[in-house]
Amino acid sequence: METIDCAIAGCGPAGAMLGLLLARAGLRVCVFEKHADFLRDFRGDTVHPSTLQLLDELGLADAFAKLPARRVSSVAIESELGSWPLANFTRLPGRYNYVALVPQWDLLKLLTDHAQQFSGFELRMQSEVVGVVKENDSVVGLRYRSGSAEQMVRARLCIAADGRGSMLRTQAGLQPVDLGAPIDVLWFRLPRIAGDPSNVAARLGSRAMLVLIDRGDYWQIASVIAKGGFEPMRAGDIDGLRQQVLRLAPFFAGREHNLRSWDDVHLLRVQLDRLPRWHRPGLLCIGDAAHAMSPVGGVGINLAVQDAVAAANLLSAPLLEQRLSEADLAAVQRRREWPVRVTQAAQRAVHRGLLEPMLAGAPPRPPLVMRLLAATPWGAALGGRLVGLGVRPEHIRSASRQPP
Ligand SMILES: Cc1cc2nc3c(=O)[nH]c(=O)nc-3n(C[C@H](O)[C@H](O)[C@H](O)COP(=O)(O)OP(=O)(O)OC[C@H]3O[C@@H](n4cnc5c(N)ncnc54)[C@H](O)[C@@H]3O)c2cc1C
Repeated sequence: METIDCAIAGCGPAGAMLGLLLARAGLRVCVFEKHADFLRDFRGDTVHPSTLQLLDELGLADAFAKLPARRVSSVAIESELGSWPLANFTRLPGRYNYVALVPQWDLLKLLTDHAQQFSGFELRMQSEVVGVVKENDSVVGLRYRSGSAEQMVRARLCIAADGRGSMLRTQAGLQPVDLGAPIDVLWFRLPRIAGDPSNVAARLGSRAMLVLIDRGDYWQIASVIAKGGFEPMRAGDIDGLRQQVLRLAPFFAGREHNLRSWDDVHLLRVQLDRLPRWHRPGLLCIGDAAHAMSPVGGVGINLAVQDAVAAANLLSAPLLEQRLSEADLAAVQRRREWPVRVTQAAQRAVHRGLLEPMLAGAPPRPPLVMRLLAATPWGAALGGRLVGLGVRPEHIRSASRQPP
């Protein structure tokens, strides 16, 4: 059986970007996606300035600009006690001083369509990876199911980009450390009409918080609830949620009945974890499979993409020269673990300082440190930088061997 350079389990942001970059570097890569399409509602739709910059470096800025997008230039927390600007993206260096809200399926289609132009790229949809192939304790391939048949692919490198419930990492004996998350999130949508406010804001109340995301003709809304709180809520009437929406955002009056039943509400069980070790001989975990992020800051996609870029930068040459070792995989973890740790520490600080007190019924205002930062223009600019560019943004360094 022929051995390809890289087999990737999962075509989310991490797998799609890595597949594209490795094929662009002249490698043979196959990405396996268990679903038939990319249509998944309420997935991360935030494309941050760091990712916009990467798309530009790949020559995809014009194609991306044609996608249906809303631009967010700042994020604030609002309550009956005041308004606090938390992140201002307008002062970011470079061309991209906004967050683009783009349906995730459009982003994935853009990346995989571009990747298809490189002869080494293959995407197999409806192909669920069901296990690893091991030889002498090294991973040397993947087993996958396509239709009723189980098949096998041999690869010099296998990538677990199969998301936060990664089956592949479990099979490889890698166990994440659970950092704990005190919240879950309910996602739903309500119509947006002329005269509504615009942009993104978090509305804080007593024991309740809504994040309102302006998506043009509708609002994408997140209600932050205590971990495990959905089941008791669901046992009651949906009217409780409608009333919460009206209490925090009265401009929805008359539109709350668009929330017809609990079927209109999508639960995100928030997870915050990371693998102590991202690799085994022949296998590397990236994106959510290596570190599930809290929704705070909406940074999950962007970290997943940054992992993919770092992996391509560090692994393309060893793969091309057929000298890949586990030390190269460890180098990817070394490069990306620090940004992940810093981001997760910041998310935990927001959990502890803002969300837990809110759920316990504290007065609806951010903690002192956030209020002090929000009081200065550079504080909001710093917030914009942390959220928009993150820690250690990556750049495309692997060369394109085969211009499309
Ligand atoms: C409801 C929700 C809202 C979110 N909102 C935001 C947001 O606003 N902004 C943000 O940045 N992040 C958000 N996130 C997080 C973000 O979606 C993830 O961090 C990001 O998508 C991680 O990318 P990934 O490629 O690592 O994993 P995923 O996006 O999870 O992709 C994994 C892929 O692997 C596939 N797969 C899984 N198992 C297998 C298998 N065995 N074989 C083949 N394929 C497999 C899956 O179908 C999926 O396509 C949200 C997540 C959820 C669930």
